[in-house]
Amino acid sequence: MTDSYTVGIDVGGTKIEAVLVDGMGVVRVCERMAARGGADRVVADCARLARMVAGPYFPEVQAVGIGIPGQVDPTTGHVANVVNLAIVDVELARLVSQALGGVPVHVENDVNAAALGAAHMLDRGSETVAFLNFGTGLAAGLVYRGRLLHGASGSAGEIGHIPVDPNRFECPCGQRGCLETVCSGAAVATLWPTGKDDPPMPDLLAKAKAGDPAAQRVLAIVKHAMGDAVQMVTQSVDPELIVVGGGMAKTGQPLLDAIGEEVQARGRRCPFLESLHIAGRLRLAPPDEPIGAVGAALAAVHVSV
Ligand SMILES: [Zn+2]
Repeated sequence: MTDSYTVGIDVGGTKIEAVLVDGMGVVRVCERMAARGGADRVVADCARLARMVAGPYFPEVQAVGIGIPGQVDPTTGHVANVVNLAIVDVELARLVSQALGGVPVHVENDVNAAALGAAHMLDRGSETVAFLNFGTGLAAGLVYRGRLLHGASGSAGEIGHIPVDPNRFECPCGQRGCLETVCSGAAVATLWPTGKDDPPMPDLLAKAKAGDPAAQRVLAIVKHAMGDAVQMVTQSVDPELIVVGGGMAKTGQPLLDAIGEEVQARGRRCPFLESLHIAGRLRLAPPDEPIGAVGAALAAVHVSV
């Protein structure tokens, strides 16, 4: 059996991370570099990193997968509206493939790529895994039997724009009271401004624990919204694992505990919820692991076989 390799690349707003994955799904090489804005630079940097991680194995690379934020069409490889990287639109798959001498390139939404990578690294035995990305926004990635569930129009898991409270905040999407307006990094920063560059969630949790009534009020809103997010994925696809990821997951165990408390409190009021044992399904995304890049590589393998 000849070894086959796949390259996975996770393009973020501040850094690009790439891995070389072998035929057994094991990460052999990992490299990262600072991200640069502009479609031409993103194409060039993806191609450069792919060659860098592949090194002498480049001729054996079967496919390259790229995870990137914005509006991504995995079937065409077209990417649009990546605000952080100043991309209006770009034929990302075609251009990176061209720069790599024709290697097939597959592009995924970054949350979906992270979902696939987290499912692979945490527990390959689970049939269904839901990945909740509490990042600047909120979205879920759904993995079924090791494959991504995109849905008919690619919007499966876009729970951030489900309105949960019409009396609350307007959402840039045009609706009112979307879950994302109370349950995302940006929402917590608005509800609990720390006035510093520090992420607000650890401060909010610490102040609430110390008895600050304002912090407790805000935390109750955020916890309720996180509980809604968890219930939405649980009651839609009944996953074995619910992975908490995204920037807010850097808060670590205290965040997972807060979500666990919320779902357990709901369970005490509702025997049906209690019977689902939701808190036991919660996991933190593996910190410091290149889950986005690994997932991008796995997604590319699935379409190239
Ligand atoms: Zn919305």
